[in-house]
Amino acid sequence: MRLLIVEDDTQIGDSLRSALGRAGHAVDIARNGAEAEHALAGAEFDLVLLDLGLPGGKSGTEVLRALRARGSKTPVIVITARDGVGERVDTLDLGADDYLVKPFELSELQARIRAVLRRAVANTAGPVQVGRLRLMSERKTVECDGAALELSPREYGLLEVLMMRAGTVVSKAQIEEHLCNWDDALAESAIELYVHRVRRKLDRAGAEIRTARGFGYMLVPVESDAAA
Ligand code: CA
Repeated sequence: MRLLIVEDDTQIGDSLRSALGRAGHAVDIARNGAEAEHALAGAEFDLVLLDLGLPGGKSGTEVLRALRARGSKTPVIVITARDGVGERVDTLDLGADDYLVKPFELSELQARIRAVLRRAVANTAGPVQVGRLRLMSERKTVECDGAALELSPREYGLLEVLMMRAGTVVSKAQIEEHLCNWDDALAESAIELYVHRVRRKLDRAGAEIRTARGFGYMLVPVESDAAA
């Protein structure tokens, strides 16, 4: 999953980035409200961790309000030192998905991230299943008839984004955004290589990755395969 951390405290931001990176996420940091808006306008994130007290005149509350005003449903977890009940209620009313008061334990944040992502997936698509494949996002794996496929982190990321948008064309740019943060880029040829590798692992999975030439890729269920 691709996460954006909006946090002006360098120490907190950097430690969150490395911890969440180790947990397998692609993570970017914005240090103030303007950077956050720029980031959110320019890329698709699966989840935002948003500090409320930010320097430079634009608060986290304003970032959240603007995000929801333009119809974005990107899940947002507010992380803040302010812990008044009024503050909490206001933030949730504005459209935050959860709220965590500093200081917090990393394990609690990670549990909340999992819960919010689970809800987001459930709200959009129900359990994510395509053909005989089932997305097990908490375990970062995909099962075929109950057996986990052997996937590298990038192969998993590719299959994850295709499964979450099964039946629709996902562009190479969207795949790259899902797999990478800003410090990292993937050549189109690298994406083609991952697609090639994942395709070979979908033998008899009741699903296949189709190429929409010039546009991207689409995962679709395949009937005949399932009967074989
Ligand atoms: Ca702050």
